[in-house]
Amino acid sequence: MEETPTFPCADKITFDDEKSAKTAAIVADWQHELAGNLVPYRCRYCSLWHLATKN
Ligand SMILES: [Zn+2]
Repeated sequence: MEETPTFPCADKITFDDEKSAKTAAIVADWQHELAGNLVPYRCRYCSLWHLATKN
């Protein structure tokens, strides 16, 4: 991607679909010991998926 508009989420990791985001969330949980604290959500700006931290 190049010359894309700057979204508030520009520095976030993006995923094409919910399944990918969920898979990444599980992996991130293992790596960062945030077990169960990451939840995928559909972004209103870029229409892709990101991971949010609960709390
Ligand atoms: Zn986004």
